[in-house]
Amino acid sequence: MGEFIFHAYVIALRSVGYLLALTCLAASAQTAWHPTHYALLLEPQFASETIAGNLQMDFLLQQQDVSSITLDSGDLHISSVTMGAKVLSFAKQGAALHITLPPGLPIHRIQRIAIRYTGKPGSGLRFDKDSVQVATAFSTSQWMPCLDDPAVRTAFDLTLQLPSGLESVANGAPELPQAQPDGKALHVWRMAQPMPSYLYGFAVGNFVEAEQTVGNTTLKYYGPSTLLDSSKLLQVFADSADMLAFFTRRSGVDYPLPVYSQVLLMGPAAQEMAGFSVMGARYGTRVLADPQAIWLGAHEMAHQWWGNGVTNRSWRHFWLNEGIATFMTAAYMEHRFGKEMYQRQMDAARVKYHAVRDAGQDKSLVFPNWDSPTAADRSLVYDKGAVVLHELRGLLGEEAFWNGLKAYTQMHWGQSVETADFVRAMQATSHQDLSVFFEQWVYAKQSVR
Ligand SMILES: [Zn+2]
Repeated sequence: MGEFIFHAYVIALRSVGYLLALTCLAASAQTAWHPTHYALLLEPQFASETIAGNLQMDFLLQQQDVSSITLDSGDLHISSVTMGAKVLSFAKQGAALHITLPPGLPIHRIQRIAIRYTGKPGSGLRFDKDSVQVATAFSTSQWMPCLDDPAVRTAFDLTLQLPSGLESVANGAPELPQAQPDGKALHVWRMAQPMPSYLYGFAVGNFVEAEQTVGNTTLKYYGPSTLLDSSKLLQVFADSADMLAFFTRRSGVDYPLPVYSQVLLMGPAAQEMAGFSVMGARYGTRVLADPQAIWLGAHEMAHQWWGNGVTNRSWRHFWLNEGIATFMTAAYMEHRFGKEMYQRQMDAARVKYHAVRDAGQDKSLVFPNWDSPTAADRSLVYDKGAVVLHELRGLLGEEAFWNGLKAYTQMHWGQSVETADFVRAMQATSHQDLSVFFEQWVYAKQSVR
């Protein structure tokens, strides 16, 4: 996600509580059971800014005698949990939804439960009634019970029940909208590739759209129809095809989905999701005024590789998502606009990092936990993270650095990683012992310059 938006917006949306929830359920869930598929039918209700959902979750038990499972479910109100015709008992404890399983369920065989719920999410979902727009923002468990754990990757199908005439963008590939007798329409999106749940999402509104095809990928652009037309959208996203080619080349991995969509929303937004990104309409205005102001578009697209394709195993290693994406944004800007632009980007990251360091708030990039990150912690993840990549590039030289980054990305594609995985990949490809470098820059509480 974009750093500034992260600071100003996600914090305001009680991210601390959300991130806390992320860390508490993972360990036990991964060993005892894991979800294999979510299928959600969701109806956003614009007048009341509420949602009604019916979630079908498939899962596998990995241990005998698991008596209950626990999901993250934000502030959602759970109406019922069923397994076929059986009604299951459940209890909500804060954000945790504990579901009691029938005894004697076999292990390693797919089980299916259905969860009906309603909610008026205070975070994770933003309605804009005036523009009839609704979009998700990072905190998936505020609009869908799920396992909020970046180490758990699950396939996801979403059906949105919407007033007719609205456009939707979500994860994966869309089917044609189906008109309903009540005048509403069902928008079905399917994503067969398992992805971490924090990357699930959707954006709905009165959008104008445009598209381009690059190789096997369709690039789709959406913006509020009141602000933009399709030729302006093509202008805003004129560099997208070049960005896609650049990140593909540097990662050594093709973009994995048939479509990548970029959506401009009314109000603030800066969030990558699986197969699409949302940004504020102001991003479009800025790029139309200054074609070099494409930092955010490049950053969110970079996450399709670093963040989405290769994901931090826990938020303690968040710098692997955000530091690499921030660095790769600068690398794209260098490719597009030249060395001086890269230097400017790196100088900006260094200035922000040094401000944190000079305030005595430098820390290891591997955090003991990410339960209540400060603004300085977030700056470290983005800015110190990018500076570390830049320093490593200087140390290794062009060939060894880019080969290492490519090897890291290819080796761990579709996986969740820790900092040690990154270190190993860079050492193996460069044939250098980088322990001193990583100790100084990443593991030590204060970097030595
Ligand atoms: Zn980001």
